[in-house]
Amino acid sequence: MNPDFEELYQQVILDHSKRPRNFGALEDPAVHVDGDNPSCGDEIHLHVRFGDEGQVEDLRFTGVGCAISQASASLMTLKLKGKSKKDALEMLTSFTDVVTAGEHEAPKMLGDLRLLGGVRKFPQRVKCAMLAWRAFEQAMQEASSGKISTE
Ligand code: ZN
Repeated sequence: MNPDFEELYQQVILDHSKRPRNFGALEDPAVHVDGDNPSCGDEIHLHVRFGDEGQVEDLRFTGVGCAISQASASLMTLKLKGKSKKDALEMLTSFTDVVTAGEHEAPKMLGDLRLLGGVRKFPQRVKCAMLAWRAFEQAMQEASSGKISTE
């Protein structure tokens, strides 16, 4: 990491962990998923409202934990809100690649989320960064399985 990147990384992480965006709960109907990362003590409670086409109409979260887990959740809600199912899935896959596989050319659509790519050198931190995203993945699965059963 060059110094500029490191500084920007710290600023963004601190900003989002101190003032998380979309923090709170959603009224039903919404999918609720709880996730935790015992190795660090992070917790997330994610609420997602999906539209008829599986698009992400709204999402909010509450949680406690380290700066990375909370910042990743905050950045995630900003990026996923209003996204189609296809775009949300693509975002999930891209972000997973960035923090685990070491993609050098992170897709531009990830925006500030690309900054979290620095965690890939620290396996414990990868779990922190992925916590919210694993919860979102589970929410998507629950939403689509719920759909199948009513059709
Ligand atoms: Zn953590």
